[in-house]
Amino acid sequence: MRKQQSEAHPASQQDEQGRTPTSRRTFLRNAALGTAGGAAALAAGCEYKTQLFLLSQPETEAEEKSPDWQEARVRSYRQLGRTGMQMSDISFGCSGLDSADVVRRAIDRGINYFDTSPDYSRAGSEKTLGQGIQGYPRDKLFIVSKFCTPRGHLSDTTPVRDVMAAVESSLQRIGTDYLDLAHIHACNSIERLMNPNIHEAFDRLKEQGKLRFLGVSSHTPRLEEVMRHAVDSDRFDVIMVAYNFRNWPELTNIFHDAKRKGVGVVAMKTLKGARHSALSDFTPTERESFSQAAFKWVLSNPDVSGLVVTIGSFHHIDEYLHASGQPFQPADLALLEKYDRLVANDYCPPGCGECLSSCPSDVPVDDILRYAMYYENYGQQRVGMEEYANLPLARNASQCVDCRAPCESACPHGIPIQAKLLRADRMLRFV
Ligand code: SF4
Ligand code: SF4
Repeated sequence: MRKQQSEAHPASQQDEQGRTPTSRRTFLRNAALGTAGGAAALAAGCEYKTQLFLLSQPETEAEEKSPDWQEARVRSYRQLGRTGMQMSDISFGCSGLDSADVVRRAIDRGINYFDTSPDYSRAGSEKTLGQGIQGYPRDKLFIVSKFCTPRGHLSDTTPVRDVMAAVESSLQRIGTDYLDLAHIHACNSIERLMNPNIHEAFDRLKEQGKLRFLGVSSHTPRLEEVMRHAVDSDRFDVIMVAYNFRNWPELTNIFHDAKRKGVGVVAMKTLKGARHSALSDFTPTERESFSQAAFKWVLSNPDVSGLVVTIGSFHHIDEYLHASGQPFQPADLALLEKYDRLVANDYCPPGCGECLSSCPSDVPVDDILRYAMYYENYGQQRVGMEEYANLPLARNASQCVDCRAPCESACPHGIPIQAKLLRADRMLRFV
């Protein structure tokens, strides 16, 4: 592997609190670029408001770094099914990625698996990842993207040549000759999972040496059904699945069968929303340990090959990698149970969707609450606003005004849906 290069990049230097010096400027710059929401925010004179919001973010408060975490490295690698890859147990999700230095730091700390997509930051994530991996031996890294374009997901009728062109565009943006893996992205049905055009495109790309393995990612309400079919079909090398503490009991059996058949299992959405409203009730020590406890629980399942978590700062690398290779302990269990008590009635289990059919306007309640979570809890304001801006007006949360909210009686978790969607609408449109 390449020697430590972050020293050669002045922008990669942290201040004494472990912050990237440019991180706030970067967000403000990003808000000024491209997105409808960002443009609207700035047009409305909201830069000052944005700064105030950022200063109030719990993530910023948490940048006080525990001395124990400093220089944390990957301590465990696991087999990724039949791919032969030994992946870092805690790996790099590139949603919202805007710093190649963070990628370099992650590689230097032992992370070897990177998950990006053309629709993360309108392809900015792929380009930044490509800059970050330059100079490192390509065959030591596992680069994952999606069958997708910067404008969004491919439709189910996309011709084979366009599916292939989408992957070839990813190769150009990343600056690599091949992808190790491409997922059918956010797959929500068996029809999409087995779409013949995508499968034919994969076969041709594989023959041409441009793509090695086929995967599927999902956090759909039909998650278990889609994943069961993917494993049983013998077409998929890897599945990437929303998986977190005490959700999705059937996944345990699916993961077990996946491992037996040589299908790699990558967990995502492992932090269960990381609701800052709940974390603010934790002691500082508990708050520091929450993400590590969540990761250790996921990795305590030996059928999981590894997990992907969004990493956007040097601080994340220290915090998250501290959990690598560590056993799940009783104290971790107590912390996760406390978190669950605090987020009761405030969190949609991934893939729930029970309320969706009750909405007369076909508002994607679960998706909008997820965008709000990106904004509010993951520090990914731009991603949340972009995703929300992509929804047609007739299906966004403006439809909730004056509605009698039949969705709420359909929700088994007692979520105050209408109030939360109206709040999300104000937040994600910056009005
Ligand atoms: S409040 Fe009305 S419009 Fe909004 S999600 Fe519920 S049912 Fe749909
Ligand atoms: S609001 Fe309730 S029913 Fe709808 S997705 Fe969330 S938890 Fe499920």
